[in-house]
Amino acid sequence: MNIYKLILGYLLSWLDIDKKHVWHPYNSLPSKSSLLAVKSTNKTSIFLENGEELIDGMSSWWSAIHGYNHPRLNKALKSQVEIMPHIMFGGLAHEKAAVLSEKLAKLTGLNSVFLCDSGSVSVEVALKTAIQYQEAKGLKKYKFIALEHAYHGDTLAAMSVCDPDNSMHSIYGSYLPKHIFTKAPELGFETDCSESIKELEKTFEKYHKECAGFILEPIVQGAGGMRIYNPNFLKKARELCSKYDVLLIADEIATGFGHTGKMFACEWANIKPDIMTLGKGLTGGYMTMAAMITSKNVSDTISNSELGILMHGPTFMANPLACSVAIESLNLLEETSWKKNVLNIEKIFKEELLSAKELELVKDVRSIGAIGVIELTDASYAQQVQDYCVQKGVWIRPFGKLIYSIVAYTIKEEDLKIIVKTMIESIKAIKK
Ligand code: PMP
Repeated sequence: MNIYKLILGYLLSWLDIDKKHVWHPYNSLPSKSSLLAVKSTNKTSIFLENGEELIDGMSSWWSAIHGYNHPRLNKALKSQVEIMPHIMFGGLAHEKAAVLSEKLAKLTGLNSVFLCDSGSVSVEVALKTAIQYQEAKGLKKYKFIALEHAYHGDTLAAMSVCDPDNSMHSIYGSYLPKHIFTKAPELGFETDCSESIKELEKTFEKYHKECAGFILEPIVQGAGGMRIYNPNFLKKARELCSKYDVLLIADEIATGFGHTGKMFACEWANIKPDIMTLGKGLTGGYMTMAAMITSKNVSDTISNSELGILMHGPTFMANPLACSVAIESLNLLEETSWKKNVLNIEKIFKEELLSAKELELVKDVRSIGAIGVIELTDASYAQQVQDYCVQKGVWIRPFGKLIYSIVAYTIKEEDLKIIVKTMIESIKAIKK
């Protein structure tokens, strides 16, 4: 049998199995859209079963910050698997969790680290922690303030603090708890945000007695619209949370570990939240792991309360494989010039995306750090754009009106320029 037939037979068989049995994100079974069969990855390349190579403009949903198959990360994982792949965390402790937690505490300026499975779960734990904190103080505060355009994850409590119109509220709304939504900050890092601040002040005055926390994505609202906003809004949020003893929960799952050019986006406003959630880049995109980190005040208040414990404890809490690769990822951030790389990426996005502004179908172009965004006037072209980019050897997955790229900090300059050029060409090639 010739080699191509053999390859084709193999390809057909496992993709056929996929179509029969495997759910993909936000999809039907079998998948409504075509799926690309991936064979392997290396650095910032994705290799397909059909022999094609794609430059990765997505870094696996913002997670592979150092690129794929980094020798240091591979080594960390391989050596840990020989020592201890997993151990339950109830009643037992291990060194890798301690080392990682100390590093995270130092980096964030917070203290108390809860290591869990995924970003959404860390948001669930953050909301539970805020409720327990308020209960420990004898307060019955069970609601949250959240922003329009917010996105905080797909689990039920996380969904309940996502934008009520532009999210899955339309499907699960009758089941979800009702929270308080306030006007999102105006679009633009330097845009005056006094209107949204005014609304925020009114929201706090009216609802603070029933609200345990205010959850937001600092500086960039991600999946809810890739909206970059003014740090002054964040400063005001900190001020109001402190004034009314509403906990400030900064969801840095998408923005954290350098994506906006600072280690954490909160640094743009020079503020510290009471609770921070981290995920995605935490393990350099290798393993599913997230962290919910609080100030000492929050953990002390819960630990000294009548109940005295934080009520959460997943099976794979603090998985040692994930901890060891996360430690190495943080070591890489400490030792490499990621900040310089992100600045360079930002410069290329700023300069090269600009020409897209002139195009008829483009509403806005924006960027910060390793994030470059083109907003179209219409949401119906996403598949066309994706297909065009793949044809040209670039992996971009737009959502709705947004064509965006978030790249690994290790990407080569020429590859990033190809990504941006292809994004722009894909819009020119749109057939209305
Ligand atoms: N919060 C934010 C800001 C996110 O961007 C995401 C994921 N896109 C989540 C929470 C949920 O994380 P996960 O997909 O790991 O559950």
